[in-house]
Parts: sequence; structure tokens; C-alpha cells
Amino acid sequence: MELLDGKATSLKIKDQLRDEVSQLVQSGHRSPHLAAVLVGDDGASLTYVGAKVKACEEIGFVSTLIQRPASTTEDELLQIVKELNENQDIHGYIVQLPLPKHINEQKILLAIDPKKDVDGFHPENVGRMALNLPTYLPATPYGIIQLLEFYNIPTEGKHCVVVGRSNIVGLPVSILLQRNSYPGNCTVTITHSRTKDLASITRQADILVAAIGKPEFITGDMVKDGVVVVDVGITRIKDDSKKSGFRLAGDVHFESVSAKSSYITPVPGGVGPMTIVSLMKNTLLAAKS
Ligand code: NDP
Repeated sequence: MELLDGKATSLKIKDQLRDEVSQLVQSGHRSPHLAAVLVGDDGASLTYVGAKVKACEEIGFVSTLIQRPASTTEDELLQIVKELNENQDIHGYIVQLPLPKHINEQKILLAIDPKKDVDGFHPENVGRMALNLPTYLPATPYGIIQLLEFYNIPTEGKHCVVVGRSNIVGLPVSILLQRNSYPGNCTVTITHSRTKDLASITRQADILVAAIGKPEFITGDMVKDGVVVVDVGITRIKDDSKKSGFRLAGDVHFESVSAKSSYITPVPGGVGPMTIVSLMKNTLLAAKS
């Protein structure tokens, strides 16, 4: 078993990005500028946005964090989005999900200028991705395919089973892995909570992507020998032995599944850091366009 080390891979990509930013600045351009909008005080969202801002600093991007209380109205958030669309200083921005329940997420995502949508969630960018046209790929699926590429994982003709069909992970990673390119050309099966006898399907996987949000749900008896496993899940589990009071768990039961895997991502240190550098790549692309 070999680890698909997202942390080490992301550090190498960050080095490349840092070089590209300094070349961009030396040639007279402005540093890429990413803005992040955070509504409410969800602990996990605060951590994710904090990590994104830190990554910007590390590679020479400018970042702006716009923090608003959970009581922010949909109209107030739409106004922020409008201002960000019009702000020439900002190349790209994200609205951190999930949003408070009283705000319609789709309405907000639709209001984002697709050219600044570095999360790749706007329907126009999702459509471009599906048609294999140039666009911002959603950060987590983009991070996954870069990790497979970095480790030269063969994908052509492989059966890839994706567990989870969310708009931000399961669905887009399924689209990317079936594309006629590398990484891609997989035969993809997408599964979800209504799938019958999930284990009989996951056992057929050459490549298994778990994006469910249920800690340690995929166990060793659900995979075949030699499987490549990408564990997207991150759930905080109460753990009094930790200073933070919690530990992070993936969707995969690491001990039993890694014993049968050829490659597997750890949690933390797998897909998470790859997601962040993918967002940075999209922001650099926005700054160059
Ligand atoms: P969602 O809750 O949006 O989607 C979960 C999916 O899992 C749904 O499609 C759901 O099916 C499916 N599902 C739930 N229960 C089962 C089951 N018993 N059997 C099969 N499928 C099931 O989650 P996300 O995709 O947003 O996130 C998934 C996980 O990945 C979370 O832990 C999240 O924190 C993590 N994540 C990690 C990122 C990273 O950077 N590493 C980035 C984004 C997410 P249905 O559609 O039928 O409800």
C-alpha cells in the first residue's frame, strides 16, 4: 500500500504556483487576488476559509476575507456578490458553503460572475466542465484528478465507483473521470443513499471515491484487493484526548481498507490540501485571463 500524499503533493504545487506568481509580478502584472465570503460562525467553515487565506499568503496572492454574521439576509449577501463582481481589484472569489438555511444557495451561486467563480460552482462553469471546455474545475474534484495524475495512477478502462452525488464532489468527479483524457476514460458508476446493495458495487471498483460525510463508512469487506481509494470525507468527531476536542475522520475505515489497497489517501493530508491548491490554481488562471 502506498499513500496518495496530498499534503506533500500540494506543497510541490504551491512551489510551482509561487514561481508563477513571481514571474507574473516581475512582468508587470498584479498579484492574483482571491476574496472569500464567510457567513455565520460554523467551526469547520472557519477552518477551511482560514486555510485558504493562509495558502494565499504562502504563495504570494492577495486575499480578502469578508465575514458576516449568520443573521445576514439573502439580499445583503446578493449585494456583496454584486460588489465583488464589479470590483476590478479582485480576480476571483468564493462564497463558503454551506450558507445559513434562510439563504438560497442556488440564487447566490447564480449571481456570481462565472469569470470570477473560482470554485467552479456556477451552472455555466459546470456545463463547460461537462462539455470539456476551458473553465474553472470545482476545487475538490480538480484536486482528486491532480493527485491521481501526480502518482501516475492508470485510469483508462478502469471501473471507478463514486459514492455520493453532491454537486461539489460526487457528481463533478464522476464527470471528470469519464472524460476522454488522462486522468479519465474510466467507466464510472455513481452511487448514493438510494443505491441497493452498495457493497456489491464498491467491491467492483478499481478506483473508489468516497464522498459521503459518514465517518469510516467504507470498510475492508466493501473493497477488492488492489483498489485505489480516494477518501474525500472529513467529519469532526468528539475526542477529549485532543487539544481541539475533536479528531478528523474520513469516510473510509483506514485500517481495514488500506490493508487491501494499492493506493489510498489519508485523512487528514489527502484530498483536503489538494482542494486548497486547486482553488489557488483557479485563482491564478482568473488573474491571467
Ligand atoms: P453531501 O452531504 O452534499 O453529499 C453526500 C452524498 O453521500 C449524497 O449524495 C448522499 O446521497 C450520499 N450518501 C449518504 N449516505 C449514503 C449511504 N448510506 N450510501 C451511499 N451514499 C450515501 O456531502 P459532500 O459531497 O458535500 O461532502 C461529502 C464529504 O466530503 C463530507 O464529509 C465533507 O465534509 C467532505 N468534503 C471534503 C472536502 C475536502 O476538501 N476534502 C471538500 C468537500 C467536502 P443522496 O444524494 O441520496 O442524499
